[in-house]
Amino acid sequence: MSYSGFRLIKEALRGHSGWKPAWRNPEPQPGYDFVIVGGGGHGLATAHYLAKVYRKSRIAVLEKGWIGGGNVGRNTTIIRSNYLLAGNEPFYELSLQLWEGLEQDLNYNAMVSQRGVMNLFHSDAQRDAARRRGNGMILHGSDAELLDTDGVRREAPFLNFNNARFPIKGALMHRRGGTVRHDAVAWGYARSADRHGVDIIQNCEVTGFRIENNKVLGVETSRGYISAGKIGVAVAGSSGRVMSQAGMRLPIESHVLQAFVSEGLKPVLPGVITFGAGHFYVSQSDKGGLVFGGDIDGYNTYAQRGNLPVVEDVCEGGMALMPMIGRTRLLRMWGGVMDMSMDGSPIIDRTQIDGLYFNGGWCYGGFKATPASGRVFAHLLATDTPHETATAYRFDRFEKGLMIDEKGVGAQPNLH
Ligand SMILES: Cc1cc2nc3c(=O)[nH]c(=O)nc-3n(C[C@H](O)[C@H](O)[C@H](O)COP(=O)(O)OP(=O)(O)OC[C@H]3O[C@@H](n4cnc5c(N)ncnc54)[C@H](O)[C@@H]3O)c2cc1C
Repeated sequence: MSYSGFRLIKEALRGHSGWKPAWRNPEPQPGYDFVIVGGGGHGLATAHYLAKVYRKSRIAVLEKGWIGGGNVGRNTTIIRSNYLLAGNEPFYELSLQLWEGLEQDLNYNAMVSQRGVMNLFHSDAQRDAARRRGNGMILHGSDAELLDTDGVRREAPFLNFNNARFPIKGALMHRRGGTVRHDAVAWGYARSADRHGVDIIQNCEVTGFRIENNKVLGVETSRGYISAGKIGVAVAGSSGRVMSQAGMRLPIESHVLQAFVSEGLKPVLPGVITFGAGHFYVSQSDKGGLVFGGDIDGYNTYAQRGNLPVVEDVCEGGMALMPMIGRTRLLRMWGGVMDMSMDGSPIIDRTQIDGLYFNGGWCYGGFKATPASGRVFAHLLATDTPHETATAYRFDRFEKGLMIDEKGVGAQPNLH
């Protein structure tokens, strides 16, 4: 069933009685060619591209809860392609290009909104770093523009320009960046994967791997054993726990990251704004709420809620940048578990166990990566070779000292 304006009018006229569930609810089969563990954005996108682009069949996504219940439905929805290093930027540019065509690809309204991402800077040294990053972005086919103070003032006149400690000296503007409705991404990928024959099995927790002679044969689950030709693990914040079932210890720590939404306001923010002198970023949802966040809570946890010192830190950042936020009432706040890698960049690689593949280490930047992550992980699963934009995301980079240390955008391991 395709979604279209015509279809909407037709359904409106007959009391919306013709809509069908967006995906099936199948029973697990005894075995599949491909089993994807984790029904978050990355797992569902992987299944979609495996089926649609690589024409594979007999694919299942196993999700321990419900799809969209993990970080794909908990993040602050920012997408961007504004990385500095050659190991990262081509991958994130691929992702942004996939976002730009996503709704047509999925036949689903994910509310992709390229309203711009503005990274403020507050010192001459930061301006130099922003200029360098912008040049790197342009060289990799992305867009970047350096704004001076007046340029920022034209975009967001309400900011605290003359703060004695953090005067706003300009911004790196990335106009193709923006926001996407996060849970619609999970739903859109799920619907499309289902239409291509993928079994999406919810309430099915993977509890172990059956491995013989260094080859993975299948997964033990809360709904019984399922055999598999190849297994791709994409469980984000649960990476350490799930891979330990295969006897692997990862260079990843789990931390909680909190997010906040205010009451609905009239449109005030033009796009995404990030503070350069503290950890605070903000955008406005289509419902009017200010969506904002800051740093991770600096301790290891699997709890999906955070603590007050970080709330205070986020509020301080918000007040320093846009004092008017102090008049806004907070509607709700929540947390999600981050899979923090030690250099802030992801891992998408085969493991030393035949047939077992891993995708994780997304830190607090994995939502924007969802389409590219799915695309390159599907490529790896289908062809056993890394996609050309993801050759640096290997396990052995930590052993060989080839870290992709993208300071200022990914993880901050010094805060672990
Ligand atoms: C507050 C917050 C704000 C963020 N803001 C941004 C942002 O603005 N921009 C951005 O790019 N990124 C952001 N992120 C990061 C981003 O959300 C994550 O990096 C990304 O969503 C992780 O990939 P995923 O969608 O596949 O994860 P998830 O949705 O967490 O999917 C993993 C799934 O695996 C399932 N699972 C776990 N264990 C098992 C098991 N044993 N068996 C079966 N299933 C299992 C889980 O239930 C879960 O559904 C933010 C995250 C948070 C929490």
